[in-house]
Amino acid sequence: MDNKRKISKKRLQMGEEAWSEYQRQRKNNKSNRYRLNNSEKVISSRRKKKKALVEYKGGKCERCGLKSEICDIYDFHHIDPNKKEFGISQNGKNFSLEKLKVEADKCLLVCKNCHAVIHYEINQKRIHELRNKSLLDFNSATGQNLSYQEFTERKEKIIKQVCTECKEDIKTGRKRCKICHEKYIDKKYTGPTKDQLIEDLALFKNNKSAIARKYNVSSTSVSHWIKVRYKL
Ligand SMILES: [Zn+2]
Ligand SMILES: [Zn+2]
Ligand SMILES: [Zn+2]
Repeated sequence: MDNKRKISKKRLQMGEEAWSEYQRQRKNNKSNRYRLNNSEKVISSRRKKKKALVEYKGGKCERCGLKSEICDIYDFHHIDPNKKEFGISQNGKNFSLEKLKVEADKCLLVCKNCHAVIHYEINQKRIHELRNKSLLDFNSATGQNLSYQEFTERKEKIIKQVCTECKEDIKTGRKRCKICHEKYIDKKYTGPTKDQLIEDLALFKNNKSAIARKYNVSSTSVSHWIKVRYKL
């Protein structure tokens, strides 16, 4: 609490405008320094992990057999999306190699080209199944009581559903495809960087409400940053 009073005093002396500029500068310097010191380390460790995983999965596309030294051409396609815990290329980079291997066991190693074809085929199949669904099946599966007219309109709407950003076909009930959704969430995020949050936790002695006040968010958001976003 003593700490907090000291900060407020400094803030009072500086005035609100100078204070927020000072905070902004400090935040930038700190995260730039972190990025400079760690970027090479982070990138090379991620690359090494991906290379190890590609080798673990046989080192070639499991659909067309393409073999390449360039790991970037490969994706991990989850055979059963229900068993997917995380996307290996998107958010798996910070997990241990052992954990990544467990996830990779649920996947096909495919080149980006084949991956696109696989998802195109999955989507075509989904549309085909929906087209062939009867009114009776639909009503009993959804617990609704649609007329034939309503049912046909609903079907067409679902079939034509596309991502608002990239216009890819998506499942009903969503605005964006998974990839665009992740990008959207990232863009919307205005909270602290990981480095800044660690600094705040030390500064405010793990007081989440104090951090919440600093960023003008709820304590729940702060807990989310700590546990989910940065896994501190
Ligand atoms: Zn392939
Ligand atoms: Zn896939
Ligand atoms: Zn999209």
